Amino acid sequence: QAKAAGRCTFIRYDDHMDVAARQRAVVSGALRRALDRGELRLVFQPRMALSPPRITGVEALLRWSSPEHGDIAPSDFIPIAEENGMILEIGEWVLREACMMLQRWRQHGLDDMAVSVNVSVLQLLRGDFTDVVARVLDDVGIPAHLLELELTESVLMANAEQSAAQLHAFRALGVSLAIDDFGTGYSSLAYLKRLPITTLKIDKAFVDGLPHDAEDSAITPTIVAMGHSLGLRVVAEGVETRAQMRFLAERGCDEIQGFWISPPLEAAQCLAFVRNWRPASMQLPHRAPLVTS
Ligand code: C2E
Ligand code: MG
Ligand code: MG
Ligand code: MG
Repeated sequence: QAKAAGRCTFIRYDDHMDVAARQRAVVSGALRRALDRGELRLVFQPRMALSPPRITGVEALLRWSSPEHGDIAPSDFIPIAEENGMILEIGEWVLREACMMLQRWRQHGLDDMAVSVNVSVLQLLRGDFTDVVARVLDDVGIPAHLLELELTESVLMANAEQSAAQLHAFRALGVSLAIDDFGTGYSSLAYLKRLPITTLKIDKAFVDGLPHDAEDSAITPTIVAMGHSLGLRVVAEGVETRAQMRFLAERGCDEIQGFWISPPLEAAQCLAFVRNWRPASMQLPHRAPLVTS
């Protein structure tokens, strides 16, 4: 019985691998056409400074709705786009689209908002990516300091020399540079110190356990303090509760992003959210309690 079950599992596992590989090839093909067919779009997640409270900007996040395959998560299709090289074209589209959206919002009066764009290792390593960024900023007409590029630790560490040179070129342009998912990679602090980055984004994994988990409540203030001592802005990702926000605010974390403020929103909704947003709606800890009587 057990043997039969084991064998059955093995066969199904093997089948499953085959299906997965075929599925990947199909998705890869569909992805090549997705951009031309208008199946890709951006959603935007607001980011909030804690003291004083204000919406500082948005992170652009890619979405793919395929008529054949349904909605596919970025964590599922971005690795495929990196594998088949489409990430270069897609990444440039994301950059331009995000900047154009910001420019439109600026024309609606949101003139001090910034936009953050996730950048893949392949984009970073192509020789002309700085030129691409410079051209997009110029074409769209937004000041460089309103664009932030988000890179993951593993990307930077795996290509240390070339990455450092690229980052210096970006800083010369005036764009901000964030390390995304900070704490999950393997950055050496000595290396980090030498990179011209402006922002650390603490990974959601360290925010989840706040405020009760002993390790998370030790790690996050340490990252905040370390970031500040290196002159960096520190942002916490994946903040979902008021208690997490309060903990981070009390430890001097500069900004938070997460469902507590807002999930990623369609462009029009995001514009409305930012325009209607009021600090009072956030129940921030340093605000005096309402006196009722
Ligand atoms: P990321 O850059 O770390 O983005 C944060 C992810 O966490 C987003 O997932 C966002 O929707 C999600 N998130 C934000 N707040 C919360 C929260 O409070 N709770 C929970 N549970 N989740 C939250 P998403 O949109 O699925 O993106 C996943 C990853 O895919 C991104 O992680 C980023 O690494 C990558 N990605 C997304 N768009 C792009 C893109 O345009 N280019 C590249 N290269 N990568 C992208
Ligand atoms: Mg990001
Ligand atoms: Mg992240
Ligand atoms: Mg991530």
